[in-house]
Amino acid sequence: MDLNSEDRDMTWEVAQKTVEMIFASPSLDIKIEFQGGEPLLNFEIIRDIVDYAEMLNRFAKKNLQFVICTNLTLIDNTMLEYCKAHEIFLSTSLDGSRDVQNANRKPRVGSSDGYTMFIDGLMRARQVLGARACSPLLTVTRTNLNDLNSVVDEYMRLEFNGVFIRALNPYGYASTNMKALGYSVDEFVSAYKSALNYIIRRNTEGHFFVEYFASLLLKRILTPFPTGFVDLQSPCGNIIGGVIYDYDGNVYASDEGRMLARMGDRKFLLGNVRRDSWQSIFKGSKAQEIVKASCLETLSECSMCAYQMYCGSDPVRYYTESGDFYGRRPSSGACRKTKGILDYIFYLLRRDDDEINSVFWSWLRAQC
Ligand code: SF4
Repeated sequence: MDLNSEDRDMTWEVAQKTVEMIFASPSLDIKIEFQGGEPLLNFEIIRDIVDYAEMLNRFAKKNLQFVICTNLTLIDNTMLEYCKAHEIFLSTSLDGSRDVQNANRKPRVGSSDGYTMFIDGLMRARQVLGARACSPLLTVTRTNLNDLNSVVDEYMRLEFNGVFIRALNPYGYASTNMKALGYSVDEFVSAYKSALNYIIRRNTEGHFFVEYFASLLLKRILTPFPTGFVDLQSPCGNIIGGVIYDYDGNVYASDEGRMLARMGDRKFLLGNVRRDSWQSIFKGSKAQEIVKASCLETLSECSMCAYQMYCGSDPVRYYTESGDFYGRRPSSGACRKTKGILDYIFYLLRRDDDEINSVFWSWLRAQC
């Protein structure tokens, strides 16, 4: 893809209508997250959207937050000063050491050493925004699957407080490269368990470091509080917790739904900000059908499953795997992965080991 091409840049007309639709939501908490490609390639529209949202919010008085998901390679001091002035949080991607990061995330501009560009950007961001203003996301691929301990070491070396061990989803670029990047559910669960053991051990040695997926599950298991994590709730967070506004004004139930549309299937397209109203998009028959399909309590296998109250169901995932919103859970990869991880968390809890329990509770206290 040509990075200078403006075909996929959001125009001001679409941006304005998008912000107005966001503010039509009855929710008092609004988070606007900019995702790409690389959103910093069109920083002007980010600035326009933030300025316009802040103006509307003078009257709406909602709890308004902004996040930019960026690989940090294009970030400069002007952008960072703007982020500081408007309290914009940065989210980024880190898959491990220099070799892994360079293999997984080749920069499309500049040097082929994306890792060095990432580190430069991270240090600059920390200087302007502070140590905790930028958090990374890990994607597990074949390149780092069997070396997650080194990934954890790299995160700790860079003074991050935790990692979310996230499996590859079968959408977009990953779907066409599954042979090179992919692995089986059993391989992932086994690697996850061993990395979780390593993280727990590092904690018992005195280093506070969280595995965020386990921490979310533990919050569901050990406390009465919700996590706000869209994948672990029923109905799931698609549409009612978040939607994707694409550059052309199309509104999708989730980012995976948008990626599916790129692959030619517009099943999760809810409407367009230029021609549809908030009511027709968020209360229309398609939105209702998708939300209904994500209520675990009403799904045949899930309604009988011991893990139902800790789990969630993403209809996009089941549609991708089986061709319908409901799928057959026990044979789906997403279900087997969640069950495998929950089996292990319950195994650790049943051991009632004081050291492990105190690590888990330290993670939960940090979420409060
Ligand atoms: S683990 Fe599987 S069967 Fe159980 S609730 Fe989750 S998706 Fe449904």
